[in-house]
Amino acid sequence: MTYVVTDACIRCKYMDCVEVCPVDCFYEGENMLVINPSECIDCGVCEPECPAEAILPDTDSGLEKWIELNNEFANQWPNITRKREAPADADQWKDVKNKLETEFSPEPGQGD
Ligand code: SF4
Ligand code: SF4
Repeated sequence: MTYVVTDACIRCKYMDCVEVCPVDCFYEGENMLVINPSECIDCGVCEPECPAEAILPDTDSGLEKWIELNNEFANQWPNITRKREAPADADQWKDVKNKLETEFSPEPGQGD
């Protein structure tokens, strides 16, 4: 079992989650983060830290595409363990739904 980052993180990227992960398994894309499912120890401490409620356990239904996306991009993007400033327009995107198709970027972020 693992936790996964989902749609709500796209363009929010508050990064509160990275500071609490005991195994540093968050990876940074241009406008969202993902969790590496092979490294996540399923402790759950990141879930309540996310202001966008973007982090969910993979036991929730309908998350197959997010598990796949987290796995795929965790292997391409740089590791991130330190919080930086959220994007200036993060709050505007926080409650927008279904951002994957229109807002997701496969480009890597800067990492630590
Ligand atoms: S705290 Fe939530 S919105 Fe922020 S980067 Fe982590 S998963 Fe994304
Ligand atoms: S559940 Fe624990 S190990 Fe997994 S990403 Fe969150 S904080 Fe890290």
